Amino acid sequence: MRWKAAQIGVMPVHLPPVTRREFLRRSLLAGAGFLTATASWAAPRAPDPHTWALMADIHIAAKRTELRRGIVMAWHLEQAISELLAGPRVPAGVIVAGDLALNRGERGDYATLLELLQPLRAEQVSAHLAMGNHDHRENFLTAFPETLVRERPLTPHLVGIVRALRANWFILDSLEQTLATPGLLGAAQLAWLERALDAHQNRPALVVLHHHLSTKQGGALKDTQALLEVLRPRRQVKACIFGHTHVWGIKEDESGIHLINLPPVSYVSHPSHPNGWVQAELERRGMKLQLRCVDPEHPAHQQTVSLRWRKG
Ligand SMILES: [Zn+2]
Repeated sequence: MRWKAAQIGVMPVHLPPVTRREFLRRSLLAGAGFLTATASWAAPRAPDPHTWALMADIHIAAKRTELRRGIVMAWHLEQAISELLAGPRVPAGVIVAGDLALNRGERGDYATLLELLQPLRAEQVSAHLAMGNHDHRENFLTAFPETLVRERPLTPHLVGIVRALRANWFILDSLEQTLATPGLLGAAQLAWLERALDAHQNRPALVVLHHHLSTKQGGALKDTQALLEVLRPRRQVKACIFGHTHVWGIKEDESGIHLINLPPVSYVSHPSHPNGWVQAELERRGMKLQLRCVDPEHPAHQQTVSLRWRKG
């Protein structure tokens, strides 16, 4: 039952879990067979409502074996999903901060992504997907048809709120134009965010988008300053989480908001940088992050960071 807390107010970017029976049926229909299905024969463990898996830049190609910069992107995502399902705490949900697709957001990319997410759904782990500059909204919605019947608070953007017991996640859509590097939220989305934040002051607000915040770098979020002007005075906002740079790092904004740049699940921009995903444990006054590298030999693997929320 507890995972349902994360499902309230679902919108198009949210992928609801399927039943295990439905998962098995689909796996068999898809010819995936028992290799995929066996993982779900064991009794499911209840997801932990305070644990979340954070990912970015998964770059899934239509062809599962597609190789880029020496890695197979689908294998990295499969590894991350099997690891988070096998960990000591099954997360309530997985949040992917954009660049779901390989390059130009083709329908086939999203069809493959949907298949790769099935093990999560079978274990009642929700998935919440944000758009990046390598994504394409209409193609995404074609491949994820069940999302079409859900509430969509803003168009054309795919945004929404995921309510957890100790925080509310605000998923934004910074895709301005597919294949153009910079991102833009735009006035309408910022106005929606203001209203949504003002209506949810009861819990810490954690804001997720694809593009990193910078008022100086050309490839960043163009309306960084406008976003900060929305976030800074709303004291319930504690962290802003993004991907895009393919570089893992945590900073603090002058107002005390944590700026968390997730590593890519896929390829890195420099060979020494880690790729992987981040396990987030929501606490009463903060959040504990643990980096889970694709390469368990990487020196940053299992690096743990404890963040305290700013006051207010
Ligand atoms: Zn990317």
